[in-house]
Amino acid sequence: MTSGTHAPRIDTSRPHPARIYDYLLGGKDNYPVDQAVAERLPVEARNGAAANRAFMRRGVEWTARTGIDQFLDVGTGIPTEPNLHQIVQGVNPTCRIVYVDNDPIVLRHAEALLVSRPEGRTAYVQSDVLDPEAVLEQARETLDFERPVALSLIALLHFVPDDRDPYAIVRTLLEPLAPGSCLILSHLSMDRLTPEQDRTEEYRNAGIDLRPRTHAEVLRFFDGLDLVEPGLVPCWHKDSPRPEDADLPGADSAYA
Ligand code: SAH
Repeated sequence: MTSGTHAPRIDTSRPHPARIYDYLLGGKDNYPVDQAVAERLPVEARNGAAANRAFMRRGVEWTARTGIDQFLDVGTGIPTEPNLHQIVQGVNPTCRIVYVDNDPIVLRHAEALLVSRPEGRTAYVQSDVLDPEAVLEQARETLDFERPVALSLIALLHFVPDDRDPYAIVRTLLEPLAPGSCLILSHLSMDRLTPEQDRTEEYRNAGIDLRPRTHAEVLRFFDGLDLVEPGLVPCWHKDSPRPEDADLPGADSAYA
């Protein structure tokens, strides 16, 4: 577990994905450089972020109800209540959660992620998904890999370009997990957006290599796994407790 005895250096001269996403969700942990990018994004980006976060809440709650009590969440983002551990420990207080992000601003706010229920445990690891072996090694300090683990990669992999082989990264992360483990994933797609709603250009101009993927490309992440119903669908689809989201433009801009 990483503890923040020294405040991590926050680079406020460049926009960062975690802070842009925080702004899109209505959060306050972002800087003018991030706000400038977010303001240039179409409204669909905001609706997509809200729908994605709603999927995170539903997906992890559903998973905890299946009896899985260990979670490895890579690309956690800046804390936004309710955070993953609050949701799953609401179902089962003994749940253990390892949060991973490579952005120092997430580390700076990690104390909000470390307030575990006493029966369970949470840890925060500053690490990069591009080095999945390192992620696994640190996760083992908190999670028991002899028992099922839910790996959550939510709105993360569109930040991993093709030349870093995101499919191999996911395989490496899944490989040591015990039978009964699962993958919870959402991913930006352009399939349902018009060219005017494309935001990759804005991100690229800001130095962030965003790689939306098609339905078939996202489905490949699940190769060798059994998909649960209803399969890979737009992320608002799954019995949304906020069905009004479904009608907002862009709410279907990610697959989950
Ligand atoms: N999973 C959260 C946050 C998504 S925002 C949610 O869906 O609500 C994407 C997050 O991925 C950001 O916090 C960003 O810092 C993180 N991220 C991007 N690239 C990463 C990498 N290579 N390794 C680890 N985290 C990364």
